[in-house]
Amino acid sequence: MNQTEAIRPSARTRRLGFSEIVTIRNQVLAMVGAGRSVIRLEGGEPFAPTPDFVKEAIKRALDQNQTRYAPSSGIPPLLEAVRTKLAERNRIEAPASRIIVVNGGAHGLFCSFQATLDEGDEAIFLSPHWTPIRDLVSYAGGTAVPVPWRELDGAAAAEVIGRRITPRTRLIYVNTPSNPTGKVLSRSELEGIARLAVDRDLLVISDEAYEDLVWEEPHVSIGSLAGMERRTITVFTLSKSFSLTGGRIGYVVADEAIMDAIRRLVLSSTNGVSTPTQFGALAAISDRSDHLARMREAFRPRRELLLDAVRAAGLRCEAPRGAFYLFPEVRERLGKDSWAAMTGLLERTGIATVPGAVFGSEGEGHLRMSFSMPMEVLEQAAAALRRL
Ligand code: PLP
Repeated sequence: MNQTEAIRPSARTRRLGFSEIVTIRNQVLAMVGAGRSVIRLEGGEPFAPTPDFVKEAIKRALDQNQTRYAPSSGIPPLLEAVRTKLAERNRIEAPASRIIVVNGGAHGLFCSFQATLDEGDEAIFLSPHWTPIRDLVSYAGGTAVPVPWRELDGAAAAEVIGRRITPRTRLIYVNTPSNPTGKVLSRSELEGIARLAVDRDLLVISDEAYEDLVWEEPHVSIGSLAGMERRTITVFTLSKSFSLTGGRIGYVVADEAIMDAIRRLVLSSTNGVSTPTQFGALAAISDRSDHLARMREAFRPRRELLLDAVRAAGLRCEAPRGAFYLFPEVRERLGKDSWAAMTGLLERTGIATVPGAVFGSEGEGHLRMSFSMPMEVLEQAAAALRRL
C-alpha cells in the first residue's frame, strides 16, 4: 500500500521555515566534539538566571495546587497587574478586557498576524528583522515587504516606509529596540510612523520584547502616541526582562475587535498559558524592586567590553542603542558572504555568531554577536578577537 499521499503535510505549513540557528549549533557542537572550546555569542538569552522572587512565586503556585485550567485569556490578577504596568510604564491606557496573556512574544506575534492579515495583504517591516517575522506574515497569507534599515540614514522613517505603501498595505510591524541591529526608533521617528498609520489607515504591530534593554534613551511605545490607541497591537514578553525564556509567557494589548480575534486564536491553539507560570509573571510584573535597573546596569559593561574588542579588531560596528546584540559589518575583514564569515570567525577564533543573512538579505555582510554573556566569556571573546 502506498502511503506517501497520506503523510503529506499541509501546503500551508510549507510556508514556515525552520530555525537556521540549528545549522550554527551543529557546527558549534562538532567543534566542541573535536575538543575545541567555543565562545558562544550566537544565542539570544539573558545571561542571568530567572530572579529568585519569580521562581519562588512559581513554586508557591505549585504548592497551592494552582495547576488547573485558568481563564484562557489569563488569570485576573495578572491581567490587572499588566493593566497597571501598561499605564505606568508604557503610557498605554487599556482596560483588562483589551489585554491577553500569551505563550511568549512568539505566540503573541503569531496570533497578531493571524488576527489581522488576509490573503495578499502587505506587511511592511524594517530589515534586517527578527527571523520569524517573514514566515509569520506569509503563514497568515500576507506578503512581506522588507525595508532596509540603512535607508533611514539621512531620511525620515515615515518617508522611507511611506514609499512602500500600496493599496494592499495592511500593517507596519515595528520592533524597537531591534533584534538584530540594536537600533532604537526615536520618539520623533515613532511619531512620524504613527502619523503615517493614521493618514493611510494602517495597523501597527509593535514588538517590544526588548523594552527594558535600552542604553541611551527611555523606551517609547508607539501605542501611546496620538491616534494610535485603537490601531496598535503591542506584544510584550517576559523572556528578556525577567530571564524567563523557558517560561513561555508574554501579553498583548489591542483594540477590542482585534482582541476578540486573538482570544479565539489563543483558545483554539494553546487555551492559555501554564497556570503556575502566570503566577510567576504576576510576581515579576508587580515587582517594585530595582531588578530592571540592576539588570540594565549589569549589561552596560558587557556592551562596552565587546564593542571595544570588536572595533579594535577592525570591524565597523555601530554602538547598539538597545537589546543585547552587536551587529558589526564584517565584509572587509571576513568576506561578504555572512555564512562564510561566521564559519571563518568560528574556525579562527572559536567565537560563534549568527550570519547577518539569517535576518534577511539586508543583513548580508554582518554578523550578530550577543553580549548577554558572563564577563569571563566576553573577556575570552576580546582576547580571541585580538588574535584575529
Ligand atoms: N521579538 C523579538 C524581536 C525577539 O528577539 C524575540 C526573541 O528572541 C521575541 C520577539 C520572542 O521571544 P519569546 O517568544 O521568547 O517571548
